Amino acid sequence: MSKRKLNFDTLQIHVGQKVDLQNGSTAVPIYQTSAFRFDTFDDAKAVSAYEKFGYNYTRFRNPTQTAFENRIAALEGGTAALSTSSGMAAITYSLLNILSQGDEIIAADTLYAGTHTTFSNLFSNMGIKTHFVNPNNIEDFKKYINEKTKAIYAESIGNPGINIIDIEALSKLANDNQIPLIIDNTFATPYLFNPIKYGANIVVHSATKFIGGHGSTIGGVIVEGGNFNWAESGKFPGFTNPVCNESSYYDAYKDTAFITKARSQLMGTLGATLSPFNAFMLLQGVETLSLRMKKHVFNAQKIAEFLDASDKVSWVNYPGLKSSKYYELGKKYFPKGPGSILTFGLKGGLDNIKKFIDNLEIFSLVTNIGDIKSLVVHPATTTHVELSEEEQLLAGVTPDLIRMSVGIEDIDDLIFDLEQSLNKLNYIK
Ligand SMILES: *Cc1c(COP(=O)(O)O)cnc(C)c1O
Repeated sequence: MSKRKLNFDTLQIHVGQKVDLQNGSTAVPIYQTSAFRFDTFDDAKAVSAYEKFGYNYTRFRNPTQTAFENRIAALEGGTAALSTSSGMAAITYSLLNILSQGDEIIAADTLYAGTHTTFSNLFSNMGIKTHFVNPNNIEDFKKYINEKTKAIYAESIGNPGINIIDIEALSKLANDNQIPLIIDNTFATPYLFNPIKYGANIVVHSATKFIGGHGSTIGGVIVEGGNFNWAESGKFPGFTNPVCNESSYYDAYKDTAFITKARSQLMGTLGATLSPFNAFMLLQGVETLSLRMKKHVFNAQKIAEFLDASDKVSWVNYPGLKSSKYYELGKKYFPKGPGSILTFGLKGGLDNIKKFIDNLEIFSLVTNIGDIKSLVVHPATTTHVELSEEEQLLAGVTPDLIRMSVGIEDIDDLIFDLEQSLNKLNYIK
């Protein structure tokens, strides 16, 4: 093809797919195989030593995964990607690829609950300390930077705060201190936002959400920005020390060193591999990502405005509303719309919350987000139930908070559903 730089809508459908010379398959084939045969002895040796690109065993690499990885890397503007069996595996690997005992990370305190638990329990048991800070205040991250700091971690749109990070300021702080910035971009998707463009070094996704899009498949992906110098600070020996008396990951792979190391060391040992079938399912999702996201953000804006006008609702938190304290950051970083997750407070206590949720007909009560179907959840009694009341409040989970993941159904039907359920509630001043 000519040298044209292709746009998102074309990339999401084509990039990463190779022409199937054998049969001409138009869809990316599912390579449902555990292992791959080599043509020759020398071939086996070269592929096993990573001297030649090739496939040997699906835990390390599989052509259906490769198509998905290359597609997400292109959509995020990264140099390489590694698919994983879940978003949590992507998050855990992205950090274990850097950290060892005695290291520290600084993380936003508004995080997906599973991520918070991984940092505060698993990592802490491994001798890795996490400083949780208020992400609205970039200066707070600065306070904890020291010799042991190996990563800064945040979500581009936080959960459940729906808070937008001032990523330019945060990546400047990280880069000035030669610390990699890792961003969970799940709520934003590569269509609405590209963290690498603003200086993030590693991006992680729960592909389970909008990328797959249909609520059918668990998966994750790590994307490398290729924009971090692992040698300069001398703080990352795992990247600069020779491996098996050969050259180091950074010397040998430069701007794909992070993904190469994660694939060989973490996928090789911990093995949270994305199945070829699930890679195929996620590819199906990606092909319509931009179309779905346009409808998701359109519906979310309308619903935020509807709830904002209801006298049964005490507050609505959506960066697309002028009243949101993230409105300006949203306009700057999310010109296509700040996602389709919103939270709101329902008046009248737990009784009304229960009634409201149980009377919904189109919205389902589901502890998930990013489905084409509209979902609601009451975090204090579900997703965040394991946190103490104090921890819940710190994470922004108030007792009256309802989280909504707005789907792509007809907007009038969705509003009808909300209205009929709100109308069944007692009048509250
Ligand atoms: C769901 C989610 C995860 C975890 O992903 P899984 O695919 O469920 O393992 C991580 N971060 C965010 C922001 C999420 O929404």
